[in-house]
Amino acid sequence: MSPPRVFEPAWRAAPRAAFDLDHTATGRGTVELQIGERRHRIYRNANFSIYSGQRCNARCPFCVEELRPLSRGLELVQQKRFEPDDTRYFARLDAALDAVAPLDPSVSITGGEPSIDPRLPAIIDRLARRGARKRTMTTNASGLLRPCGAGDVLDRVLAGGLEHLNISRAHPDFAINQRIMGTTAPISDAGLAEVVARCAARGTRVRLSCVLLRDRIDDLDGCLAYLERAAAWGVDNVIFRQLMQYDPATVQRNVITRFSDGRRAPMRPILEAIRPSARTRAGHPRFDFVRQVLGYYYYVEVYRFAGPAGPIDVCFEGADLADIEADARRRETPVIHELIFHPNTALCSTWQPWDGILL
Ligand code: SF4
Repeated sequence: MSPPRVFEPAWRAAPRAAFDLDHTATGRGTVELQIGERRHRIYRNANFSIYSGQRCNARCPFCVEELRPLSRGLELVQQKRFEPDDTRYFARLDAALDAVAPLDPSVSITGGEPSIDPRLPAIIDRLARRGARKRTMTTNASGLLRPCGAGDVLDRVLAGGLEHLNISRAHPDFAINQRIMGTTAPISDAGLAEVVARCAARGTRVRLSCVLLRDRIDDLDGCLAYLERAAAWGVDNVIFRQLMQYDPATVQRNVITRFSDGRRAPMRPILEAIRPSARTRAGHPRFDFVRQVLGYYYYVEVYRFAGPAGPIDVCFEGADLADIEADARRRETPVIHELIFHPNTALCSTWQPWDGILL
């Protein structure tokens, strides 16, 4: 069964129920792969994430990096370990990339904050030499214009042929964004425009990522204002993310979870304003439906927006970390959905370096 080009209301209403690895997931099905001593069943479209050990220089009160361990009862500081020796780190990264090569996974670099990670240029060069598929990086952009060799970090990123650069930006207004993200030495608006222009010239697509927060970007008008600003920067790809949900029974409460619970703006009313569930009612005139994407713990709706300077691809994403555990519980044979190379050099099937160790 192909993903429906026709909007499917049931997917929006109950994405977990609609998710089926063999029929509704994008990659459809699994493959067997030997990693180390064992054979594993791996999702055909699994992504390989290189999780930077560089501590992030922002202080987002909804930080996803912090939230993932919290959802399993641990603070980030309790689980994040770092291999300090470059030689050992890169030897193990090479071994991990060799091990997953038959799968030809897409590869993303994430953090922490990779743009200020001294290892970033060598990681990017390595991926480019290997011809890794669909290379992307997620960043707050603060380090992209910092000097690096004869040029700057962005030069190295672009030389590495990244397909996408995902830049976190919680609000179009610089001062408000800074109040939300609290980045040390943030990139300026002019700097962001420069990054977008240089990326466009080299074929790397910038995607802005905006969290939906109560009293900030929390409704369709807010999204429209954000899209107008994105267009002015020359960006043609934006994702709006609902703050991640998690299992209240396993989560460790702290300032991040309290903020997330208090300020999570639901995406459903925005989606309803763009495209009502009932097929007979017309959708928003500036949004054309493209597709829905079901993941094992996330759900995405993709639209083409008629922007002032041309079309903008717009995604809306919701995710529930509890679905990761629910998926594992309901399977007799475990399935690996994603591959994470941790800063301590463990290759794991989870975002916890102590769980699902593969290599
Ligand atoms: S930029 Fe990303 S990693 Fe850094 S604090 Fe914000 S959400 Fe966390």
